[in-house]
Amino acid sequence: MNRFPREAYRDLGVYDPGRTPVAVDLSDNTNRWGAHPQALAALRQCAEESVTRYPSTYADGLKQAIARRFGIDVAAITTGCGSDDILDCTLRAVCDPGAKVTYHDPTFFMIEVFSRVNGIQPVAVPTNSALTARAMLAADPAMVYVCRPNNPTGTLLSRQLVEELLEDEEGPIVLVDEAYIDFADPGESFLHQAPTHSRLVVARTLSKLYGLAGLRVGFAVAAPATVHEIDKSRGPYKVSAPAEAAAIAAIAADDGWFERVVAEVIENRARLGERLQALSFEPLPSHANFVLIPTPQGARAIASALRGQGVGVRPFPGLPGIGDAIRVTIGPWALLERFLDALASVVD
Ligand SMILES: *Cc1c(COP(=O)(O)O)cnc(C)c1O
Repeated sequence: MNRFPREAYRDLGVYDPGRTPVAVDLSDNTNRWGAHPQALAALRQCAEESVTRYPSTYADGLKQAIARRFGIDVAAITTGCGSDDILDCTLRAVCDPGAKVTYHDPTFFMIEVFSRVNGIQPVAVPTNSALTARAMLAADPAMVYVCRPNNPTGTLLSRQLVEELLEDEEGPIVLVDEAYIDFADPGESFLHQAPTHSRLVVARTLSKLYGLAGLRVGFAVAAPATVHEIDKSRGPYKVSAPAEAAAIAAIAADDGWFERVVAEVIENRARLGERLQALSFEPLPSHANFVLIPTPQGARAIASALRGQGVGVRPFPGLPGIGDAIRVTIGPWALLERFLDALASVVD
């Protein structure tokens, strides 16, 4: 009997964010100021050897740079081909086929996809006043996924929720996705708790603030024993040598470049919020480098009309508890001004 494609797998599609080239692209939360000049210089200086030879097996140089930058032991760090890869490898390391993963809904779509791809059962818990640690643990999951700040809403679930998820020694692995933590209040991160907690994994990416989405680099911090298990499912050579070189340069940079980007994101985020309210929109309070704007008129229609005017945003039709919304990346103000002009003409 032909069992191909696998049953849980058959109905999955391939990823299509609906992204076509556009003059002002505010659709994917990457760094619209660009990449750090030292990261680009490191990329240009890559020797031929970094193309012809295999990279380091587990990106040891990058792990050392992360260890120095964040003051974390190398043994508590794993790396991956983007933090997508970290999520995928962690799921595979933690969950037997058939086990459950719970997550708050809506959140980063890929957690559901990677769960299904790995034969794991995704369990969505609605994000409302009933979202408690108890609700997230009710299905007896092998892993709980918490995205802080959350994509696509930009909101920040309470620290207390994560702390309660971590309380019981016998509980599941808790994966906290901190892709956007650089844009939240300092002190919100769980990164420094991860090396000494047997159930906590904190994932980070170099695709957002660090401006290296095209190079595909992510990392995670966890107890060394957990890192060891994740590394088994990760396998060798996941970070290419040029990507590792640029990532090391970006992580090591201490000239204030990233701090300036963060400050401008926060300033532009507030300013965009005010302008949107003046247009009678009610954007969600954001702790990230994007803003989610509920759009009663239909997200796909608005996004497509904006695209017609050269502005790319990401439509989210029918988000649970929210309805239709568009997500807009915070970039330099000139780009946001273009977005606002286009939006005003589209909803007129
Ligand atoms: C963008 C994003 C990632 C993935 O980033 P990559 O490192 O590019 O794979 C992970 N989690 C969330 C919540 C994101 O928005």
